[in-house]
Amino acid sequence: MTDQRSGAGEGRTEASENVGSTVPTHSDMGLNLVTRGHVSELKSGRRYDDRVTGHGPSTAGAHGPSRVLLAAPRGYCAGVERAVEAVERALEGHGKPVYVRKQIVHNAHVVRDLEGKGAIFVEDEREVPAGEVVVLSAHGVAPEVYEQSRARGLTVLDATCPLVTKVHLEARRFAGDARTIVLIGHAGHEEVVGTMGQARDRTILVQDVAEARTVELPAGPLSYLTQTTLSVDETNEIVRVLRERFPHLEGPPREDICYATQNRQDAVKELARRSDVVLVIGSRNSSNSKRLAEVAIEQGTPAHLVDDETEVDPSWVAGADVVGVTSGASAPEWLVERMLAWLASLGAAEVEEVRVTEEHLRFSDVRV
Ligand code: SF4
Repeated sequence: MTDQRSGAGEGRTEASENVGSTVPTHSDMGLNLVTRGHVSELKSGRRYDDRVTGHGPSTAGAHGPSRVLLAAPRGYCAGVERAVEAVERALEGHGKPVYVRKQIVHNAHVVRDLEGKGAIFVEDEREVPAGEVVVLSAHGVAPEVYEQSRARGLTVLDATCPLVTKVHLEARRFAGDARTIVLIGHAGHEEVVGTMGQARDRTILVQDVAEARTVELPAGPLSYLTQTTLSVDETNEIVRVLRERFPHLEGPPREDICYATQNRQDAVKELARRSDVVLVIGSRNSSNSKRLAEVAIEQGTPAHLVDDETEVDPSWVAGADVVGVTSGASAPEWLVERMLAWLASLGAAEVEEVRVTEEHLRFSDVRV
């Protein structure tokens, strides 16, 4: 938290995208990328009502996709960019091997790539040989992880996203004020484990609307916090249900769902409204990527979460005229480029970017 150039409260529209410099560009691949400044300037190819009722545009069907809509913002957020760079810089600065506790970010390609460069991924800091270097993942950890790392004499490079650290600090402050914390999030997700660890005795997890309807909470002051990568709409509904039952429930000073989650969900909503099918590039253990597929489906558009183009069943796009493509906050841009090249090979060489906002935020480097 201390080393970010822009504060945790930075507007949701502010973050950087990391577009790999070594991957081919759209023009290198012969793709025709049409970029517009704002979504309101884009011509809608079809009406939302048509799509949900199953009446596709007249061009859809027989000959496969002709056009790709590409969501923006998409892909790497500022926290992921910083965490991946931390491992790369640690390898440069300390030499091989560098240990990484848990997946640095939830993306299979990123993990494999870093393994190839000399990173060793472990599930627990107690697996790291004494005295070695360990990088903590972007999802954050409970305090005992720092204690156990210290006890082993490890050099800790903490790549916890500053926006997760913000939630940790809120949890500790609420607990210090003797408040009960309702944490909205998914059991077992590393971020939730780390946040619950900040105030274990005072935190009660609520995972969905059904649990919000039935959860029993103690008398006394109540505050809620959320995982940073949830569905914005579902979280609003959970909070609404909780507030109906517990009107004195207070929220954090600023929402915990981060700018990157919000922006990518806004973009995929717009994308889904104008596409016949949406392909979300991301790993299945990536919370924000899964939410993107769900948000698209909620718009009435079929959506599929895939690690890369090799996982796309051609039948998913065979009857589609317009294919929407986006990527989760932990998916590198070169996977998007690969997906676009594959779609171009099917005839969908025209790519139009659907941008809902700009992002410029970048966090300061992890000190290695
Ligand atoms: Fe940080 Fe949000 Fe990215 Fe998670 S998704 S690493 S909270 S910026």
